[in-house]
Amino acid sequence: MSKRVVVVGGGITGLSAFRQIRLQQPDVEVVLLEASPQLGGKIRTTTFLGRQIDEGADAFITRVPWAIELCEQLGLDSFLVSPATSNAYVLVDGALRKLPKGLVLGVPTKLLPLLRSRVISPFAAIRAGFDRFLPDDWPGDDESVGGLIRRRMGDQIADRLVDPLIGSINAGDTDHLDAALAAPQLETAARRHRSLIAGLKEQSKKAPEGVRPVFLGFELGMGKLVETLVKSLGEADIRTGTPVTAITKNTDSLVVRTQQTSIECDAVILATPAHQAALLLADCQAASDRLSSIEHASVAMVTMGFRQTDVNHPLDGSGMLIPRGEGLLTTAVSWGSSKWPHWADTEHVILRVSAGRAGDSRALALEDDELVEALLTEVANILDINGDLVEWRVSRWIDAFPQYAPGHDRLIAAIERDLRSDMSGVFLAGAGYKGIGIPACINQGNQSAEATLDYLQTL
Ligand SMILES: Cc1cc2nc3c(=O)[nH]c(=O)nc-3n(C[C@H](O)[C@H](O)[C@H](O)COP(=O)(O)OP(=O)(O)OC[C@H]3O[C@@H](n4cnc5c(N)ncnc54)[C@H](O)[C@@H]3O)c2cc1C
Repeated sequence: MSKRVVVVGGGITGLSAFRQIRLQQPDVEVVLLEASPQLGGKIRTTTFLGRQIDEGADAFITRVPWAIELCEQLGLDSFLVSPATSNAYVLVDGALRKLPKGLVLGVPTKLLPLLRSRVISPFAAIRAGFDRFLPDDWPGDDESVGGLIRRRMGDQIADRLVDPLIGSINAGDTDHLDAALAAPQLETAARRHRSLIAGLKEQSKKAPEGVRPVFLGFELGMGKLVETLVKSLGEADIRTGTPVTAITKNTDSLVVRTQQTSIECDAVILATPAHQAALLLADCQAASDRLSSIEHASVAMVTMGFRQTDVNHPLDGSGMLIPRGEGLLTTAVSWGSSKWPHWADTEHVILRVSAGRAGDSRALALEDDELVEALLTEVANILDINGDLVEWRVSRWIDAFPQYAPGHDRLIAAIERDLRSDMSGVFLAGAGYKGIGIPACINQGNQSAEATLDYLQTL
């Protein structure tokens, strides 16, 4: 008898899982159920000022192989583009300062450029240099990113460089994010070496010569990846607009319930956000409770279009970061038309303005008009913009960023144990668990497919 697998969630994780099962075991019946009318989840490309612009993820990192491998397999290499510039700025006491050369995830590895940048005070730069001489004070596992940086390099490096950068990737507070998961490069360097700077320098010597840019995106937006992946599946049982309401277990099968129907199957890949998985697994109380304990942060992204002549700043970089201490609603601004050459034209400038992060939901409480007004005032003030918006769009990403608190990996291992004992055949994958970036999600989709196929062998 042919086996049936249900994939719940049609983001990049669920789609990767679906594809992998199809590739490896075409005789296994796979059904994908997606709540919303479209596929892609947090990958969403729409038209803005006549261009294809991402409302969510706009690039992926190439230091890990999974996204680039998928692009190669889908024949998408020729559509990939890299950001035009790697320069970026940070706001310090209301003034924009260029980020110094030699940063690794916000950690300075060269002290002279750091001093010259005026991002931190001379005293704080000297404090950062203590890292070279301080004794090994690694406190063991479960350290936060903020904890690590504060003990090795002091508070200003943590508050003005590392938190704005790593915090903006995760919409998180780095004092509460697990160093090993949110910044593995820093954690490994700090664990293996007495000095964080020395550890990072050694890592960079070992890193293979960069043949590829560190980040890549698509000229037609990240939606191109989803669209091509879905096309590659050919005829496939993919049902959009079909929210799953519960997953239960019978004696020898699993049942996936939607508002309209129930599907009996042998295995389920649950590729929804963790807070949704918690609701669907109410029948497995232990796993559900642990899943609910994963916190999520919300972000509002406002895409703004201006006439080029109204913007007096040269926008000579990919964007700017706003540390918490500046007290603004804005957390970061991507200077989209400078970062992505295909967004640029001679008339307009496009900015993507982010607001909201863990511990700061002020922006999310505002109505769209109020939000746009408030962010416009802040951004216009910093970038010396004196014209009206030509076009704007608000994208709200509610509970979109899982927060990997220290010990998150043990929590996930415990949830997987709960499922093996009370709900065998259910596999979790996606941003809530083992990496939030697109490559990590693709990898989790693939891995969950492998685990599912291994499980089917045991039946
Ligand atoms: C604003 C923003 C910017 C980002 N920028 C980047 C970036 O530049 N680079 C990068 O690598 N990463 C970025 N990320 C992170 C990355 O986009 C996501 O972590 C990743 O796309 C998540 O994929 P996923 O498939 O695990 O989850 P999702 O994309 O959330 O997909 C889950 C799917 O499950 C569906 N679902 C939920 N509940 C149910 C249900 N009950 N029944 C059926 N379906 C259900 C949802 O509708 C959704 O489609 C960004 C994220 C955001 C929000």
